Amino acid sequence: MKKWDGHTHTEFCPHGSGDLVETMIEKAIGLGFTDYSITEHPPMPAAFEREIANSPEDIATAALRWDQLDAYFKKAHEMKQKYKDQIRIHVGLEVDFLPGFEADTRALLREYGSQMDDGVLSLHFMPGVGGWRFIDFSATDFEAGIWKHYGSFAAIQKAYYGIIRESLFADLGPAKPRRLGHISLCQKFQHYFKNDQTAITGAARDQVSQLLKEVKDQQYQLDWNTAGLYKEFCQETYPPLDIAQVAQSLGIELIYGSDSHALEDIGRGYNYYEKHQ
Ligand code: ZN
Ligand code: FE
Repeated sequence: MKKWDGHTHTEFCPHGSGDLVETMIEKAIGLGFTDYSITEHPPMPAAFEREIANSPEDIATAALRWDQLDAYFKKAHEMKQKYKDQIRIHVGLEVDFLPGFEADTRALLREYGSQMDDGVLSLHFMPGVGGWRFIDFSATDFEAGIWKHYGSFAAIQKAYYGIIRESLFADLGPAKPRRLGHISLCQKFQHYFKNDQTAITGAARDQVSQLLKEVKDQQYQLDWNTAGLYKEFCQETYPPLDIAQVAQSLGIELIYGSDSHALEDIGRGYNYYEKHQ
C-alpha cells in the first residue's frame, strides 16, 4: 500500500530546524512511507518582496535565496538516487501563489520544472496593512497585519478563499503544481482571538464548497496538512476534517502532508489522516 508524505522541507529552509533531509527520509523509511515529496520554498521575485510590508529580516526567513536553489535541487536528486530502493522520492517545490506575479512564477517553473516531478501550490501572503503580509508568520503579526486590515475573520475568509480560487485557475505554465497546499491556512491563529467569531462562516463554507467542486473539475489534489494540529492556536488540520470530508465525498484526492521542518515532525498526524481515509 502506498504511504505518501506529500509535503516536507529540508535543511535549506531558513525557518526550519536545520535537520537534514537525509535523516528525515531515513525516519520516513522507518515509518513505512513508500513515497516522499521534498517541497522546499523557492525564492520569491525581488519585485514581490518589495511589496511585502513585513520587515526585511522576517521576509528573509520565508524562502530559499536564489543562490541556494541549484544546491537544493542537487541535494534532492541525490536523495532520490541514494534511497531509490527504499522509498520513492519526489522532487518538487512548495510554490507560492503570488497574485500579479504569475509571469515570474512561470519563469521559475520554466527553468526548474524539468527537475520536478511533484509540487504544492500554497498561499502564504495576502493583502494587509501596508502591502502584502504574511498569513502564517506569528499570531501577533497576523493580528497587526491581516486582522486589523479586514476587521473580522469573516472578511479575512472571504478574501483568502478568493485568492485560493485564483491560484487554482492561475496560468503558471505546464509545471504548475497540481496540489493545493494547506487551503485553510487563514485559520492558523484562530484560537488566539478569544473574543472573536473565528469559526468558518456560512458564507465562507459556501465559497469553499464551490471551490471544492472546481478543484475536482480541474483534477487537482489537496494537501491534507497535519501541521495545524500541533500549532497552539490552530488545533486542526488544513483543511479541517469537515471540509476534508466534503472533498472526499466529491472524489478529490487528499494527500497527507506532514509539512515537516524538523526530524521530529516526520509522520506527525499520519494516524489521524489514516483514520479518516
Ligand atoms: Zn516552510
Ligand atoms: Fe506552506
